[in-house]
Amino acid sequence: MSRRARIALVILGFAAIGLAAFKLFERPIALYLVQRAIDANVGTDPSKDLPDGLHVYVCGSGSPMADAERAGACLAVAAGDTRLIFDTGSGSMRVLGRMGFPVGKTEQLFLTHLHSDHFDGLGELMVQSWVQGARHKPLPVSGPPGTIALAEGFTKAYALDATYRTAHHGPEIADPAGAGLAAEEIVIPPGADSVVVLNKGDLTVTAIRVSHDPVKDAYGYRIDYKGRSVAISGDTAYDERFARAAKGVDVIFHEALDRELVRRMQAAAKRNGSAPIAKVMSDIPGYHASPVEAAKVAQMAGARMLVYYHTIPPMPYSMVEGLFLEGTDEAFGGEIRMGHDGDRISLPAGGTAMDYENVLF
Ligand SMILES: [Zn+2]
Ligand SMILES: [Zn+2]
Repeated sequence: MSRRARIALVILGFAAIGLAAFKLFERPIALYLVQRAIDANVGTDPSKDLPDGLHVYVCGSGSPMADAERAGACLAVAAGDTRLIFDTGSGSMRVLGRMGFPVGKTEQLFLTHLHSDHFDGLGELMVQSWVQGARHKPLPVSGPPGTIALAEGFTKAYALDATYRTAHHGPEIADPAGAGLAAEEIVIPPGADSVVVLNKGDLTVTAIRVSHDPVKDAYGYRIDYKGRSVAISGDTAYDERFARAAKGVDVIFHEALDRELVRRMQAAAKRNGSAPIAKVMSDIPGYHASPVEAAKVAQMAGARMLVYYHTIPPMPYSMVEGLFLEGTDEAFGGEIRMGHDGDRISLPAGGTAMDYENVLF
């Protein structure tokens, strides 16, 4: 046998021993890993270890278009011991779960407007917050006119499911009195651009009128807590009212649609014989802001950071984000971030830090 053949034989022998050892220990290794993940994630609340301040979870950075990387519109907030959610797009509750956000402790849901891509995940939120939080009162949901009818519809659609949960887990965990939603409609008085909708200790939430015609009642929100602040655009075309209401915030979360990419989608739909998709693609740019327009709004507001969320269209390759962001750094002098599901932005109270990390597991 040649020297090379002997070496190859020895290597093969080691590989076989390694494989056999792995097979032998595969089960204990798998059990160790899964137990570690279970201990770290099941029933825990990592948000309670965050420093006092304002923390925003990007639970849905995408649009209604199919996207494996991005859930539908959703941002969640931890401010002191209060937990709030703003919009519940499709898939967003699962992202929140993977971010360690305590859905059972959600005190209130705010809807920006009643386009379905902003409440597709409402059923999941309703059931999860009820059972995980052992709620004795329905989850409060606030939004534009129409929110009461929406909440009644969801509560009714899930009524039978609620009886199963109570029968299975008992009324201490699944109290029938805590099932469903308790809705309140936010009305911004004529002549005003904003109205305070929550005042709780150091925490203030303000609803802001934005432009999303033909949706007449579309709101953004501003959240202030102990000197730190963020503003959420919801769905809006370029709107200086939002910039004024967001004056001086640390971070603006703004939606944006890339008109050139959507134009290419429209042309493709037409070429491929889908008139309905071509029509939708030609309609939507009018009621969304372009990335550069969102950057101008952030500049006008004097924000320190701009985070894009509810971005259209999907960007399956990270280099496409470069196309989306073209021209934005000339329009905005602050820090620009492309929001991704799982991002968490932390603004500790009593300072100026803006910590940005992805906490998805
Ligand atoms: Zn919309
Ligand atoms: Zn939308």
